[in-house]
Amino acid sequence: MLNEQQTLITEAARRFVRERIIEPRLDRALDQSGEFPHAILRELWEQGLTQLEFAEAVGGAGLSCHDHTLVLEELNYGCLGIGTSAVANSLAALPLQMCDNAAMQKAYLGRLTSAHDYAAFACSEPDAGSDVANMSTRYERRGDTLVLNGRKRWITNTDVASFYVVFAREAGSKGHKGISALVVEANWPGVRWESLIDKLGQRCSHTGDVVFEDVEVPVSHLIAGPEHGFRLAMATFDRSRPWIAAGAAGVIRRARDEALAYAMQRKAFGEPIINHQMVAAMLADMEISYQATRLLTLNAASEVDAGNLRGSHSACAKAFGGDAAIRATTDAVQILGGYGYTKDFIVEKLMRDAKLLQIYEGTSQIQRLVIARDLMRAHV
Ligand SMILES: Cc1cc2nc3c(=O)[nH]c(=O)nc-3n(C[C@H](O)[C@H](O)[C@H](O)COP(=O)(O)OP(=O)(O)OC[C@H]3O[C@@H](n4cnc5c(N)ncnc54)[C@H](O)[C@@H]3O)c2cc1C
Repeated sequence: MLNEQQTLITEAARRFVRERIIEPRLDRALDQSGEFPHAILRELWEQGLTQLEFAEAVGGAGLSCHDHTLVLEELNYGCLGIGTSAVANSLAALPLQMCDNAAMQKAYLGRLTSAHDYAAFACSEPDAGSDVANMSTRYERRGDTLVLNGRKRWITNTDVASFYVVFAREAGSKGHKGISALVVEANWPGVRWESLIDKLGQRCSHTGDVVFEDVEVPVSHLIAGPEHGFRLAMATFDRSRPWIAAGAAGVIRRARDEALAYAMQRKAFGEPIINHQMVAAMLADMEISYQATRLLTLNAASEVDAGNLRGSHSACAKAFGGDAAIRATTDAVQILGGYGYTKDFIVEKLMRDAKLLQIYEGTSQIQRLVIARDLMRAHV
C-alpha cells in the first residue's frame, strides 16, 4: 500500500517514462545508437526524479530507499540502459552519504543536486571484480597528498563523470584491510578514461576504464581510511542492491506487458495464442516473477530504511530479481516467436538488457554467498 506522496511520485515517473521514453521509441533509438542519454537524464533531474535519497541539507529530496525503488521500477520499465545511467550517480553518492566527511558531502553531493552533472563509482578492476579485496589500485602518502596509481574497469558513466569515488589500497597493504575510498576529480592531471566497452545490452549506458597515473589527491579527499574503506564498499552494495532489484521488477513488468499484448492478438491454430495453455502459463509465470521481485525489492528497501545493513535482504531481492528477469524476458521472446527474435520488437532488447542484472553490483553467485554467510552467522 503506497501513501499519497508515493502514489504521486510513482505516477509522475510512469507518465514521464511513457511520454518521453516509450511513445517516442527513445529506448530503441538509444539501443541502436549507443548514444549516452544526456537529454533525458537532464529532464529527469529537472523534474526532481533523481538524487531522491540525498539529504535535503545537500539539496536532495530526502526520500527513502523505498520511495526511490518505486521510481526506479518505472524508469527501468522504460529502459534499463537509461536506468543504469541515472542510478550510477546515486551509486557514486552512497559512500559519500555514509562517510563522516561533512565537507566532502557538501561539496560533491551538492554538486549533483545544484546542477545536472555525473559521477561514477570506481571499485572493479581488470583482475578484481567479485574479489574486491584483491584490488591493486594503490596510493602512497606524501605529506598531505595521496599519490594514486592504477586502472579501474567496467565503470558506469566513465566518460561523462566529473568526479569518481575510487576505492584503492594504501601502498604495501594486502587484502581487505588496506582499502580506502577517495574522491577524485576527472579533470585532475593523471586521470583519464579510455576504452568504452561495446556491450550486449544496456547499450546507452556507458562503461569503460578509468586510469590513474601519479594523480595527486589531497588527503582531505579521503572519505574512508584503510580500516573503513572495504566495509564502506560492502555497505554501499547492501544499500544499492534494492535499486537493481527494482530495475528487475521494471523490466519483468515491461516484458509481461509486451508479451501479453502480442499474445492477445496473435492467432495460431485459429485462435489467439493466449488461449493455448503453455503460452498462458508463461505469462502467469511472468506475473508471479513480477510480484515476487517487487515484494522482495520493497522488503529490502524497507530494511535499508530501518537501518538494517545485514545485506541478506538486498542480496535476496537482487539475486531473485536478476534471475527472474532473464527468464521473463527470454519467455517474452518465446511468446513472440520468430518476431521476438527480430529488431522489429522490443523484447529482444529487454532480454539483452536484463542479462546485466545478474552480473553488476555483485553477480548472482556472489549474492548467494552473501545470503549463505548471513544464514551461517544467524545460526551460530
Ligand atoms: C556493464 C557493467 C557495468 C558495471 N558498472 C560498474 C561500476 O559502475 N562500478 C564498478 O566498480 N563496477 C562495475 N561493474 C563491474 C561488476 O560489478 C563486475 O563485473 C562484477 O562484480 C563481476 O566481476 P568480474 O566481471 O570481474 O567477474 P569475476 O569476479 O571474474 O567472476 C567471473 C564468474 O565467476 C563467478 N565467481 C567469482 N567468484 C566466485 C565465488 N567466490 N563463488 C562463486 N562464483 C564466483 C562469478 O559469479 C562469475 O560468474 C560493471 C560491470 C558491467 C558488466
